[in-house]
Amino acid sequence: MKKKDIKRHLKDYQIFSRTSTISHAFASALSIADIYDDEVIDAALKILGQDPENDLLCAYCDKPAETWDHVKAIVNKGQYSGNGHQVNNLLPCCKSCNSSKGNKNWDTFLRQKGWDTNDRMQRIEKYVSYNFLDATNLLKSDEFKDDLGRMDEIKNEIFSLFKKGDEQAKKIRDKLRHLKSKNQSKNPVPGTK
Ligand SMILES: [Zn+2]
Repeated sequence: MKKKDIKRHLKDYQIFSRTSTISHAFASALSIADIYDDEVIDAALKILGQDPENDLLCAYCDKPAETWDHVKAIVNKGQYSGNGHQVNNLLPCCKSCNSSKGNKNWDTFLRQKGWDTNDRMQRIEKYVSYNFLDATNLLKSDEFKDDLGRMDEIKNEIFSLFKKGDEQAKKIRDKLRHLKSKNQSKNPVPGTK
């Protein structure tokens, strides 16, 4: 490490730099969640060839499942992807597959691993389209135009408040810097006098 590496940390923080977090939250908030329903979940798991009453297996590699993989990301490039916390978008998964799959499509992931047997591909294909509401197309209809427009307005109001917050924070920092520099001139670097 070199002394100049410290520069990375010597930067003022900008509230406005958090816009992507807010965009992500706004997009996620549009996602609908399915209500837990034994019948729906049993039917979905049977499509995968699994026994709903037993411990579940990873849909990708057949090891014991430890988590539920969001098959498709809810937010893509800051926009709601139309997927959500719907049963068809949640596959039982082991932790190893969950982390190595990352943001890849499930079929790309299976091909890369060499696990793309016809049987597995067909089962997952059927599972992900089971009881699926594609919100992306619905949201493009006129019915949602005004509501989505208002949503954008609210988000932009927040962004403009972020900018105001940044301006106010800068005022406070400038005062603090001024006080620090006055203080420094009273306390010269040790050894220079
Ligand atoms: Zn796995």
